[in-house]
Amino acid sequence: MDETSPTDQAALIARLKAERDQLLTLLRALPDISFVIDQDGLYVRVIGGANQAMYVSGKPLEGTTLQEALPDEIGRRFLQVVRDALQTGEMQFLEYELGVDEVQPLPPHVRASASDPGKQYFEGRVLPLPSYDHPKPVVLWVAVNITPRKQLEQYWRTAAETDPLTGIANRRALLEQAHGEVERAHRYGHPLSLLILDIDHFKSINSRFGHARGDEALRRFTQVCTELLRTSDRIGRIGGEEFVILLPETDLAGAVSLGNRIVETTASIEVANTSPVFTITVSIGVATLRRGEGFEETLHRADQALSRAKANGRNRLETESAPRPDEPPANG
Ligand code: GH3
Ligand code: MG
Ligand code: MG
Repeated sequence: MDETSPTDQAALIARLKAERDQLLTLLRALPDISFVIDQDGLYVRVIGGANQAMYVSGKPLEGTTLQEALPDEIGRRFLQVVRDALQTGEMQFLEYELGVDEVQPLPPHVRASASDPGKQYFEGRVLPLPSYDHPKPVVLWVAVNITPRKQLEQYWRTAAETDPLTGIANRRALLEQAHGEVERAHRYGHPLSLLILDIDHFKSINSRFGHARGDEALRRFTQVCTELLRTSDRIGRIGGEEFVILLPETDLAGAVSLGNRIVETTASIEVANTSPVFTITVSIGVATLRRGEGFEETLHRADQALSRAKANGRNRLETESAPRPDEPPANG
């Protein structure tokens, strides 16, 4: 069938072997890790992962299966991806989280040492690997560790939503949460109340004790409020010394009761980082969501109540004025 001489054939085989060895060297040098996995989930070969800061050696996986090596749900999901790649002939993409401590065949000391940073995030590219020397069809699964990128994304997302001084939600995040809570309250016909809080005479606190101790007062105040809240309540700093607290599932009476506790507790805060010790007070306006209205309308009524609290002597709480008869409350 072919007319090549035995010496030509030997030369061809030698060249193909050399090419294969070069390719394998290339794969081994790649920073990312690759797995040859067959249609039953068997890890046939692990290649690469030269970047040891990002990957532990995957060699112990060879000869085990996805089902044995990984938690049930992940093993099942991965096997499906392998089969999809083989069936469609198309490259499959997936993103997944996996802790090194979750990979059974890895030696105990590796699993123990790596459980510290918690889950790692990977991007997987899975494609059929034709003509591989194995009795069953196989895929090449290339995994890229994207944990640093994910952590950075998370960092910036949190930073964009957090007030750096107090660690609570900033104005933007609070307003976003408020719109979500308003929508939920309307959808389920549940009450939603809010407090707007403004620390009294804060300008004079700053000028008497210094801006740094003013900052300390803001942090102490936030801490005190947070301790009085339920987990579903949301607090945000919407201005220099102005805050909003959203109270889902809470009617006006419940909001007034919490607000009064905040007024009392705030008056007992002693800002005492350095002497002299000083105290602060807060004024609060309260309003509750009415049927069909948006957050801004409720906030506006709470703000009017806050102005009355200021006018009536501060260190106190006022509630919104009663609705007109044609304006029933959301759950009236
Ligand atoms: P009122 O009782 O009417 O609320 O008086 P006030 O002095 O608190 O009101 P005003 O809104 O006029 O002043 C707020 C002050 O808060 C002005 C500003 O210097 C101060 N402030 C705003 N942001 C910060 C901050 O991040 N740190 C500190 N220390 N002070 C701030
Ligand atoms: Mg103010
Ligand atoms: Mg103020």
